[in-house]
Amino acid sequence: MGISVHPADGSDVDMLLKKADAALSFAKAAGGATYRFYTPEMTAQAVKAVALDRDLRQALQRHEFRLHYQPLYDALSERIVGAEALIRWQHPERGFVSPMDFIPLAEARGLIGPIGEWAFNEACRQGQAWRKAGLPNIPIAVNVSPAQLRDRTFINGGARSLRDGKCAPNAGHLEITESGAMERGEETIGMLREFKAMGLGLSVDDFGTGYSSLSHLNRMPIDKLKIDRSFVKGLPGDGDDAAIVTAILDMAKALKLKVVAEGVETRAQFDFLKANGCDKIQGYLFGKPLAPDDFMALARQQRALAA
Ligand code: C2E
Ligand code: MG
Ligand code: MG
Repeated sequence: MGISVHPADGSDVDMLLKKADAALSFAKAAGGATYRFYTPEMTAQAVKAVALDRDLRQALQRHEFRLHYQPLYDALSERIVGAEALIRWQHPERGFVSPMDFIPLAEARGLIGPIGEWAFNEACRQGQAWRKAGLPNIPIAVNVSPAQLRDRTFINGGARSLRDGKCAPNAGHLEITESGAMERGEETIGMLREFKAMGLGLSVDDFGTGYSSLSHLNRMPIDKLKIDRSFVKGLPGDGDDAAIVTAILDMAKALKLKVVAEGVETRAQFDFLKANGCDKIQGYLFGKPLAPDDFMALARQQRALAA
């Protein structure tokens, strides 16, 4: 139920109904079966959402997206063995807008298709540019939203890029969230198998946060599980987190999957993960997401150290 109050919220029926309606949409967004009183903040938020929606539609044409690259480290050698491409939106007035804010909006508004396709092609282009500049082959992982697997547009575009040589197959990797990977059962498995056959690697992102069916997981052609940051956070002291993380590591070993831990921020977390057999590490302890040039400098520096 949405509630507006006379005379504070308006003096005529139209205005009061409008505001009650705004309050109603907030009550619905809170999960329904509840009520909200209208506040002016609701109008401000709605106006902001409409503007963001409009801007998001134009962001691609205006070249406002960038990819940053977070290094992925091998736990034993502590060397860079990959990168994750993370999208950034530089809004002309708002400045940096987090993907946590605009990716869900893009998904809800049906805009994730072209944005996701841009991210994939841009990561391919960057990978080629780095190889041309003499960097060793660093596989780049791109995040894929479940909505991109609902029809064949994304997979067909990816196949085209690979066929046209715009993307090296052994250099590409896709990340799909655990809940996304479990959506639409057989169809998703079928599509993931096609990606795999194209030479792309596959990871399950945010692992531990969804409801995986183990038989489903076992049938998926995946290479890696990425342990969600929320479980890494409490390591090594939190007994529940430690139990969950070691259980995931044991299960992955039995299923012959590699494991990446996300959000590793401290040495103590790293030591725990390494001691329990985690293969790869990603997090602020080793490196934040970097602009392409900074990433290249880091990779170069590492190579120089090794030489
Ligand atoms: P994700 O794929 O799980 O990416 C990891 C997020 O954790 C990134 O946030 C990264 O910056 C952050 N992170 C990495 N290490 C640490 C750490 O040590 N501590 C903390 N506190 N955070 C860390 P970001 O860049 O804000 O991205 C958020 C999410 O947005 C991503 O989560 C991913 O689900 C989504 N996303 C980003 N780029 C794309 C894209 O191109 N397409 C799609 N569909 N989703 C994307
Ligand atoms: Mg990811
Ligand atoms: Mg994640």
